[in-house]
Amino acid sequence: MKVAAKLEQIRQQINEACRKVNRNPDEVTIIAVTKYVSTERAKEAVEAGILHLGENRDEGLLEKWNVLQDKPVWHYIGTLQSRKVKNIIDKVNYIHSLDRLSLAEEINKRAAGNINCLVQVNTSQEASKHGLHPDEVVDFVKSLRPYEKIRIQGLMTMAPFTDDEQVIRECFHKLRELRDQIQACHFEFAPCTELSMGMSNDFAIAIEEGATMVRIGTALVGEDG
Ligand SMILES: *Cc1c(COP(=O)(O)O)cnc(C)c1O
Repeated sequence: MKVAAKLEQIRQQINEACRKVNRNPDEVTIIAVTKYVSTERAKEAVEAGILHLGENRDEGLLEKWNVLQDKPVWHYIGTLQSRKVKNIIDKVNYIHSLDRLSLAEEINKRAAGNINCLVQVNTSQEASKHGLHPDEVVDFVKSLRPYEKIRIQGLMTMAPFTDDEQVIRECFHKLRELRDQIQACHFEFAPCTELSMGMSNDFAIAIEEGATMVRIGTALVGEDG
């Protein structure tokens, strides 16, 4: 199916989720995650009107960036090794996976100017998932103040892989509570307005719980069916 047709379906589902909880769909940014697909398919997504692309590896990002340049807004959503920061830092507009001070230090050192970051939180507390324990998040954000180029625009999480909707919902709800707590601090370096949560299988729940950025791969740009 063409990306344009899939985008139409996703938009309808987003509208539906927003209607349920009285939100304006304009508050939800769609990030097309292109990590599984070709550069050609990523290009098709941009031509279909998708303004934001997400990649989780430096190789994938660079390959697509070389063709699409800065036409889309680029989001780095994967685990980021410090030694790879220099490969991507001047190509991306948002880094969603900030989870340690050593990474903040490297980002701050390599960035040419202000750089938008989201702090990744392991809301499900599954050992396999990256991100900070929820109890550590507020102190972690406070400790980022000295890194003058880093702007904490929000928080990011991945829900566990489960059919239990309640478990998923609780993870998203937790992220929102943490976001609200940080926002209430009114730190200039951490406006923390964004909630990056929701993927192909759970973006509707995430939107009901307040997501402002949904990261959708398979359901939006998947090349099968
Ligand atoms: C792959 C990935 C996504 C998109 O996953 P889909 O299930 O294909 O929508 C979203 N966020 C992160 C961090 C990912 O790695």
